[in-house]
Amino acid sequence: MFCWSKVILFQFIRSILLGEGSLWVAWVRAYVLKGGDFWLIPCTNSMSWFMKKLLKAREEAAPFFAAHSDLSKMNSKLIWDETRLCRDRVVWHKLVWFAQHVPKHAIISWLAFLNRLATRDRLMRMGVVNENCCIFCAAEESRNHLFFECVFAREVWRGVLTMCLLNRDVLDWDAEIEWAIGFMKGNSLLTFILKLSLSASIYLIWEERNRRCFTGVAHTVEDILRLIREIVKIKITYRGIHRLTQVDSSLCIAWGIV
Ligand SMILES: [Zn+2]
Repeated sequence: MFCWSKVILFQFIRSILLGEGSLWVAWVRAYVLKGGDFWLIPCTNSMSWFMKKLLKAREEAAPFFAAHSDLSKMNSKLIWDETRLCRDRVVWHKLVWFAQHVPKHAIISWLAFLNRLATRDRLMRMGVVNENCCIFCAAEESRNHLFFECVFAREVWRGVLTMCLLNRDVLDWDAEIEWAIGFMKGNSLLTFILKLSLSASIYLIWEERNRRCFTGVAHTVEDILRLIREIVKIKITYRGIHRLTQVDSSLCIAWGIV
């Protein structure tokens, strides 16, 4: 995206999030968002071309807005300066923003990478809640605990590694990400599956955490793994498999793709 058009789009997003500015912003909040979350509402055909453009800009905008929580201090110069540098700023960019990523998974993963998810340790520091127990195991909830120190998350990620024919123990967040940066390279089927699965795991664990917190309904590790398998199968089918190596064949069998 050309930088200036990005600055303009980001300014509109800022106005929508703040709910200030024009009548148009008020209209968007009332009739498009309808109380929903700007980052999560689906893009539909009935929307205006500009609204679609704004929603499509979310992938690039999410990390920027996550890193600048005080919207009142955001101005054109800040957006211009920071977005120019944004693309190469972090080494784990390619783990999240890769060809055929799932947008909602990428956004939540990016927020996790930036440690900007509303985990209870952060909410407690902000004075929003007064207890910080993990909904899965009662240990202290933090980004690093949820991904992947918690017993629930460990089982999910262990299941993914096993289906990827990688039989090793699950490591802590920093070590897993360091491993992922070194291991998930190139265009192999394994790299594609691992990248999809990492983002899907983070998204689905976060979704499960919220489901349990707000509805009391609980899905199992196997439910989450089934969803990850479905996402991977759909993406692999869409991408197509051209030349199948022995490793790729074993992977497909492990994921139930053939
Ligand atoms: Zn836990």
